[in-house]
Amino acid sequence: DDRFCVVGGKPFKKTIEEAAAKAAAIIAVGACATYGGIPAATPSKGVGIGKILPGKTIINLPTCPVHHDHLSGTILYFLTTGKAPALDKIGRPVMYFGESIHDNCRRRGQFDAGKFLTDWNDPKQKEWCLIQKGCKGPMTYADCAIRRWNAGINFCIDCGSPCQGCAEPGFYADMTPLYTAESEISKKILAMRESGLIPKKENT
Ligand code: SF4
Ligand code: SF4
Repeated sequence: DDRFCVVGGKPFKKTIEEAAAKAAAIIAVGACATYGGIPAATPSKGVGIGKILPGKTIINLPTCPVHHDHLSGTILYFLTTGKAPALDKIGRPVMYFGESIHDNCRRRGQFDAGKFLTDWNDPKQKEWCLIQKGCKGPMTYADCAIRRWNAGINFCIDCGSPCQGCAEPGFYADMTPLYTAESEISKKILAMRESGLIPKKENT
């Protein structure tokens, strides 16, 4: 809804359309700009840039916030090659969003073994899989588990917090409740595990 984003008396959507008119490519930065993020879950019904600029080359860099490596790497790629990097079907660079969080999570062995953390206060469970605490890692494609954040220091799961899927179009509304396995996505992940549709990973 245009009324929720007005700058200098002008709907910001118009400013974006004018700025984008001659752009060779547009980089959408962060969960809100790419797919709507938290504003999409509010009465403002915010949408991603791709929805208001049909036909334009849009490079989507979700996550909340954007990862600075993703942004600088994408700009450098464009400047050095003159084209957008290879994109997946929702416009994300495959070089950053080609594998799931679950593919590279160091708790993956615990998921495969059925060891699910239910009590953050129990030291025995400290390294167990966070699926029962709402982890969306199996349905979330991003390289956080490898690249990590803050110059490689850590990322959500390694500091004990489930992945909330901020790299996916369903973030935020589809990912709630955040810290239980009651969302439809969490139920789907658990059902897929039960049916053997999430194969065990070797050497974890
Ligand atoms: S469900 Fe989450 S915490 Fe568990 S192994 Fe997968 S990504 Fe890691
Ligand atoms: S681990 Fe998940 S919630 Fe955390 S930044 Fe990456 S995609 Fe977002």
